[in-house]
Amino acid sequence: MLFDYLFGKKECTHNKIPLEVDCAYCPDCGELVENQWFILRCACCGVKVRAMIRNGKIVPVDKHCTNCGMAEFNVERLEKVNFINVAYAVLMKKAVHSENIDFTQSWVDVASSGTSRGKLGLLK
Ligand SMILES: [Zn+2]
Ligand SMILES: [Zn+2]
Repeated sequence: MLFDYLFGKKECTHNKIPLEVDCAYCPDCGELVENQWFILRCACCGVKVRAMIRNGKIVPVDKHCTNCGMAEFNVERLEKVNFINVAYAVLMKKAVHSENIDFTQSWVDVASSGTSRGKLGLLK
């Protein structure tokens, strides 16, 4: 909250979107918001590590893997969160913009654009 205030930016956190849906329209800002679940795994031994979100990035809670001591991690997207992963999963609420869906079609009839006007008539 303080962060937003300092930068004069009010970004919707979409916090009214229920966690159990894949996506929903945010009642606050009207954006289509997708719930995206991620877990972090150690890049070395593959165990799940606890993660959190800091500045919009998924970062490990602990710097090093408790299993092997490495400090490199891979982010893995979950299709659905389940009770096995829920202790490790972090949720990112992302607005889905539909601008790549193009419904516009060219339906203007070229022949009716008027270029032949004035040339009609009997020239005999
Ligand atoms: Zn919102
Ligand atoms: Zn490890």
